[in-house]
Amino acid sequence: MNNMKNFFSLLLITLSLASPSVSQEKTAAKIDTIMPVRGFCIASPQPDNLDKFLRFIKEELAPRNVNTLILRIDYNYQYTSHPELRDSNALSEKDVKMLVSVCRSCNIRIIPQVNLLGHQSWAGTTGNLLKAYPGFDETPLVKMPDKYVWPNADGLYCKSYCPLHPEVHDVVFAVVDEICDVFEADAFHAGMDEVFYIGDKQCPRCSGRDPAELFAAEVRTIRDHLALNGRTLWIWGDRLLDGKTTGLGEWEASFNNTHRAVDMIPRDVIICDWHYERPDQTPVYFAMKGLSVVTCPWRMPENAVLQANDMVKFRNHSTDEMRERFLGMVQTVWSGSEQFLNSYYGIRKEESPNTAVHCFKALFDEIARLAK
Ligand SMILES: [Zn+2]
Repeated sequence: MNNMKNFFSLLLITLSLASPSVSQEKTAAKIDTIMPVRGFCIASPQPDNLDKFLRFIKEELAPRNVNTLILRIDYNYQYTSHPELRDSNALSEKDVKMLVSVCRSCNIRIIPQVNLLGHQSWAGTTGNLLKAYPGFDETPLVKMPDKYVWPNADGLYCKSYCPLHPEVHDVVFAVVDEICDVFEADAFHAGMDEVFYIGDKQCPRCSGRDPAELFAAEVRTIRDHLALNGRTLWIWGDRLLDGKTTGLGEWEASFNNTHRAVDMIPRDVIICDWHYERPDQTPVYFAMKGLSVVTCPWRMPENAVLQANDMVKFRNHSTDEMRERFLGMVQTVWSGSEQFLNSYYGIRKEESPNTAVHCFKALFDEIARLAK
């Protein structure tokens, strides 16, 4: 009798232990089916903010089933290949290994980002690459203003490097390889968004060339370099969309004739398709071109929820060929990571409902709901 009682007790314990894990597994399988990439993109933390950031990964990203972390590094790392490019206060190898270890324990894939081609300056400040190597500047005649305003006579948003400069890739690829190695990464994000300066008529190498061909050639060069180490290239999608015909404008799409590059770049480049003000349906365009795509919201929770639902719909209503190109969603954050965490943890008060913090929460609540 006692044995029988013990048997039933054991059975009950086994069942009560088994049922949550079975349902968790089901949810995990469903979430991977509806949304394979569940991403978060943010500037890498400063060294003195690392602990708070690691806690955020463990306590906020992991429980929400985030599985991809795009970390914008640029020169926030103590590069040994090019120490002259380091920020003055940059992450050490030990800091990075802590990020790698925490993300690995949370099943989060880290994709480091260093802006290539465009975004080599910001407002009135030149970035580290062009500061150390002014010869790489696509538009050396455009001087950085004391007081930056947009619009301005030079059409200066951000500087670009010249993709045809004979020495530029030796420098940037050393940096790319080093950052991918230290992060033990199998993918790299090269940025490449909002490139306004390309094929400048004053550039002795680029003038007169087709901007679409120049852009596509740079994508291919970076992609081929990464492929040597089995790594995949991710880029922002805006230069591949026609801003005029679509009405998407000159920021989230191209007004400078780069958009035909969509047919010239290798098909294994992953497109991060960002639309912050409207839930545009452009993922379909990329998927029909044979390119895999993630949708990236920023600060409008309602749009992010619509975009997540669209992503699921695209996967459900597509051919077998196209379905797997709709990879998922990546929440983007464009403040510094410390600023974001201060808002997230209520240290800094948020005035508007339209912020990256609210958008992040709404997006991942919706993904969890869709996966039930
Ligand atoms: Zn050039």
